[in-house]
Amino acid sequence: MTDVLIVGNGLAANVLAFQLYLHHVSFKIIGNSSLSNCSRIAGGVWNPMVFKRMTTSWMADLLIPELTAFYRSAETATKQHFLTERRMLRSFQEDQEKNLWLKKAETDAALFLDKTIYSEAGQRFSNFNLSGSYSFVNHCGTLDTKAFIDAINSLFKSDLTEENFDYTVLETDAEHVRYKQFTARDIVFCEGHLVKHNPFFNWIPLVPAQGEVFTFKTNALLLDNTIFNRNGFIFKTAAETYRCGATYNWSHLNDEITEGGEKALWDKLRSMLTITPEITEHATGVRPSSKDRRPIIGPHPVQKRVHIFNGLGSKGVMLAPYFSKNFVHFLLNKTTVHADVSVERFYNLYPSVL
Ligand SMILES: Cc1cc2nc3c(=O)[nH]c(=O)nc-3n(C[C@H](O)[C@H](O)[C@H](O)COP(=O)(O)OP(=O)(O)OC[C@H]3O[C@@H](n4cnc5c(N)ncnc54)[C@H](O)[C@@H]3O)c2cc1C
Repeated sequence: MTDVLIVGNGLAANVLAFQLYLHHVSFKIIGNSSLSNCSRIAGGVWNPMVFKRMTTSWMADLLIPELTAFYRSAETATKQHFLTERRMLRSFQEDQEKNLWLKKAETDAALFLDKTIYSEAGQRFSNFNLSGSYSFVNHCGTLDTKAFIDAINSLFKSDLTEENFDYTVLETDAEHVRYKQFTARDIVFCEGHLVKHNPFFNWIPLVPAQGEVFTFKTNALLLDNTIFNRNGFIFKTAAETYRCGATYNWSHLNDEITEGGEKALWDKLRSMLTITPEITEHATGVRPSSKDRRPIIGPHPVQKRVHIFNGLGSKGVMLAPYFSKNFVHFLLNKTTVHADVSVERFYNLYPSVL
C-alpha cells in the first residue's frame, strides 16, 4: 500500500513526486515519457512580466521564491544542476513601451524592473540586434527541464514503472484505488495534453498549444546568464550553445515539427541576431494550456480518490512548485485547493455518466 499513485512522467508528475517526497508522503509513478515531448523540450524560462500589457505575471511575487527554493532543494537531493537564475534583457521596439516600462518600474513592477534605460549595446551584446534602447527584468531564470526530469527519475528509480497507463484496469472505491499490483489512497493524473484519452477527465477544457524551439551553435555571441528577449528568447545553455523559442500553434497538436514553425523560429532569430548560426536541434511539443490560463488541480467530481494535476500551459516551471505544495497540503487534509486553480470551476462540464 502506498499513499499516492502518480500517472505521467513530465514536469507535473516529477514536481509532484518530489513535493510528496519533501512531505514524507509515499508514492509510485506510472508513466511513459515517450508519449508527449512537451516537458523535455521546453525552454524552461520563468519571467515575472507579461510584456504585452507590461503587467506582472499572475502571483509572480509568490511563485518565484517558491520555485527557486523548490528546484534548489531538488538539486541538493539529486546532486545535479538544472536551475539558473538570470536576468532578462528586453529590447524596446517603441517609445510607448519604454515609457510604460519606466512608469511600471516606479510602481507595481518595482520589484522586477530595472529603472535604468540603456542605449549602448556594448561588447557583451555584440551580434545581437540592439539598435534601440533596452532594460532588464530581474528575478528571471531557466530550468533545464530535461535534466530535472532525468534527475528525479533517477532519484526515484525504484518507485517508477515506465509503461502506458491502462485506464480499463483501474478500480476505485471510497477508500482506495487499485491498479495492477498497486493499492493507494489516491491517484493523480498528470498526462499533459494527453488527458484527452483519460475517461475520468476527458471533459476538462484544455486548449493545447503546440510549440517549437531551436538549439543552435555559434562562437560569435558573448551572452552570459542574460536571456535576450524580443519577440522570443535566446539564452545560453552550454559553451557556444544557445536556445531560441518559442512558437505557438493551436491547430497542429502533435510532436512533429512544422514548416511554419521552422520559418517562425528563423524570423525570431533574424529579428534578434545579426549573424546566422548553425541549428543543431529543432524540437517540438504540445503545451497543456487551459481555457482560462490557470492550472487545473483537484479531485474528480464523483470519484474522490481520483485527482488531476494539469493545465500548466506555457508556465509550468513557475506554477508547478507552488501549486504542487498547495495540492499536497490538500491531500493531507490541511487545506483546500486554491480556488483559482481548482478543478471544481469546471465541474459543470462533467457529463455525469462515466
Ligand atoms: C516549445 C515549448 C516551449 C516551452 N517553454 C516553456 C518555458 O520557457 N517555460 C515554462 O515554464 N514552460 C514552457 N513550456 C511549457 C511546459 O513545457 C509545460 O508547462 C509542462 O512541461 C507541462 O508538463 P506536464 O507534465 O503537465 O505535461 P507533459 O510534458 O505533456 O507530460 C505528460 C507526461 O505524461 C505521459 N503520459 C501521458 N499519457 C500517459 C499514459 N496514458 N500513460 C503513461 N504516461 C502518459 C507523457 O508521455 C508525458 O511524460 C514550453 C512548452 C513547449 C512545447
